[in-house]
Amino acid sequence: MSNRRYAHVVAIAIDGAGGFIEKADTPNFDRIFANGAVTYTGISSNPTISAECYGSMLLGVGPEIHKLTNGTIKKAPHPSDSPIPSVFRRIKTVYPDAVFGLYCDWRPITVGTVEAEIEVSKASARDTELTPMICDYIKSNKPDFLFVQMDSVDGAGHRNGYGTEAHLQRIHEVDELVNDVHKAIEEAGMLEDTLFIVLADHGGTPEGGHGGWTDGEKLVTFAIAGKDVQHVAIEEVNVRDLAAIVLYAFGIEVPPLDEQGWTAQVPENVWNDASIAPYQDLSHLTGAPPRISKVPHTSELI
Ligand SMILES: [Zn+2]
Repeated sequence: MSNRRYAHVVAIAIDGAGGFIEKADTPNFDRIFANGAVTYTGISSNPTISAECYGSMLLGVGPEIHKLTNGTIKKAPHPSDSPIPSVFRRIKTVYPDAVFGLYCDWRPITVGTVEAEIEVSKASARDTELTPMICDYIKSNKPDFLFVQMDSVDGAGHRNGYGTEAHLQRIHEVDELVNDVHKAIEEAGMLEDTLFIVLADHGGTPEGGHGGWTDGEKLVTFAIAGKDVQHVAIEEVNVRDLAAIVLYAFGIEVPPLDEQGWTAQVPENVWNDASIAPYQDLSHLTGAPPRISKVPHTSELI
């Protein structure tokens, strides 16, 4: 028997939202996480670029280990012989019948973060078009683990600057999409037993770039709701910790720190559970010194 804590985990990554959700008008987010665990000062991967971040979220290691970049993530599935299994493969090992979805506005995520042999329902479309597909998928498949990525907030940040009115307005609009997904979970009768997470991969600068290590780029929203989740400000969390949280939710042992580069941890104060280890500062393992802010990829809106 397993110690499975939740039947379902649904995580929505709002690309380029950083910690700016705090400043935006997000009535749905506020309601959904009213009793949840939230921070707007979680930490991104370094460098603060999408492929690096999503690799960390779904593999549980930093970019210095998974080495995914915006150039490589779309080229091939995660290698089946990698010593670092994807979180999908780790779940599948314990629950062979687990149902997975990867619904991502930015298609490369659906390629490079999961092994070819792992069956995952995948779809890519602009977030406004993707959301109804996600809702249908939830209702007809009741996935064990669904990972969603919405990209339009990052586009608004690149075009207008992060933290600007236009960027915050797009966060406000995507808040409606988050609500649609949450409503679908409820309508599917899954809500009671779902761990629901909204996070950002990275933020950006007022000038419209990211990749560096300024607060606007590296600070991210991380919000967790579900039964047994404490109503707290999350003290410390990194985007890669999503992988540990997903395993924890399914009652799967979280790998020891630094095993094959694994650095994902379950945040210490989200669950009232003495078995959760004290959160450790792993900057000595994740290496790369903080980088000076720069604008690396304004042409490629990711
Ligand atoms: Zn971007």
